[in-house]
Amino acid sequence: MADPATALVIATVANGTVEDAQDAVAAAAAALPMWAATAPRVRSEILRRAFELMIQHGDDLAALIVAENGKSFADARSEVTYAAEFFRWYAEEAVRALGSVQVAPSGANSILVQHQPVGVCVLVTPWNFPAAMATRKIGPALAAGCTVVLKPASETPLTALVMAQILTEAGVPDGVVNVLPSKRSGAVVRTMLADDRVRKLSFTGSTDVGRVLLAEAAKSVVNCSMELGGNAPFIVFADADLDDAVSGAMVAKMRNGGEACTAANRFYVEEPVADEFGRRLAEAMVALRVGPGADHANQMGPLVNESSRDKVASLVSDSVAAGATLVTGGVVPTGPGWFYPPTVLTNVPEGAPVLREEIFGPVAPIVTFRDEEAAIAQANDTEYGLVAYVYTRDLARGIRVAAALEVGMVGLNRGVVSDPAAPFGGQKQSGVGREGGHEGLLDYMETKYISLQW
Ligand code: NAD
Repeated sequence: MADPATALVIATVANGTVEDAQDAVAAAAAALPMWAATAPRVRSEILRRAFELMIQHGDDLAALIVAENGKSFADARSEVTYAAEFFRWYAEEAVRALGSVQVAPSGANSILVQHQPVGVCVLVTPWNFPAAMATRKIGPALAAGCTVVLKPASETPLTALVMAQILTEAGVPDGVVNVLPSKRSGAVVRTMLADDRVRKLSFTGSTDVGRVLLAEAAKSVVNCSMELGGNAPFIVFADADLDDAVSGAMVAKMRNGGEACTAANRFYVEEPVADEFGRRLAEAMVALRVGPGADHANQMGPLVNESSRDKVASLVSDSVAAGATLVTGGVVPTGPGWFYPPTVLTNVPEGAPVLREEIFGPVAPIVTFRDEEAAIAQANDTEYGLVAYVYTRDLARGIRVAAALEVGMVGLNRGVVSDPAAPFGGQKQSGVGREGGHEGLLDYMETKYISLQW
């Protein structure tokens, strides 16, 4: 494993085998009856302790995330808080797995609805939020009474291994949480999905890998939650407060240096304010201090690895070749690490790859639009449907546009939507299911209905 800021190896980690995967499933299956029968209050208090331990070790965890992922220290610090909040939220939800009782319409019987843990879960997470993507799955799974095997991304296994230590210290019994670092992702995940004892897959990652895993899971009809890629539109109407829109754009685009599924990928700006918005966004981008996250004053770090950096660079050069105007950035710096500068493109031609693919880097392509109808049509013209951002002072229009956008989440005059208390997830090819909120708990539970005669 290398530090993205220096390209130097910082650690070596065990490379889990298919046999290790089988052992991990066996451990999770053995622990399941005990954990499912553990009182919700006890599960809740263990999660609460895990939240407190994460907060207590916040600086160390953030330094570890910086070292293996490359993001700025400030981004890593806020990821730790966000990640810990999933443990706090699901500590609170663990005791609220409410069911219902109703009289059947015929009056002859009652309908009793209960929720039970789905069973052993396989959790597969990406490298861009090594702590938060793990806690967003482990929190609700443990609250529901499930046991888990977590396979972290091979770029970022260290945070996951430390999270396992924190959970053990918080009182999670052996076998309930198993972490399986491996570079043999395909083989170990396929093995686990083929095991009858595994009843759930929760995956966060790219849409391409998500499609492969949905097909694998279909073979034994494993329950799936999929948090996949995004291509978020950021729509600015001419009546928007431009100061707010620019600061929201900086958060939506530059949180994690653009390496977020929720990152604003395409900026659609109404014609009368497009030049002004582009100018102000470029000013804010140029002002960012770029450098290794180990220096806490830096606001943006490198990309995670060389291939990510090369992909971003070629999306920009292809756009410029197709006629886009480079306002700032666009030049790969010399020196160690996988840095790419904050970049703004205008006059981006419709259909350019930078508007269709997930950029996953600090690049803001700006396109203008004529009217509300055109903005909605352009925003919806994608296979993705994770999140959209809308800036307008006209709240009626904001709600109308939010309803028309084919996405799971909308930031209305907000550049960030992620919140452990809210249902996070996408429509279309951005995913299936929701994480966070009460919905996130139900994703780890089976609904059982009992037709009851007193
Ligand atoms: P990725 O799909 O390459 O990898 C995700 C995980 O899947 C990693 O653990 C990886 O090792 C594993 N994996 C890769 N190939 C596999 C295979 N054939 N079988 C089983 N597992 C396999 O994604 P990434 O590059 O780590 O992360 C970036 C992607 O994640 C982006 O597309 C981003 O949008 C998405 N993402 C989505 C969300 C969301 O909540 N919707 C959140 C964060 C990231």
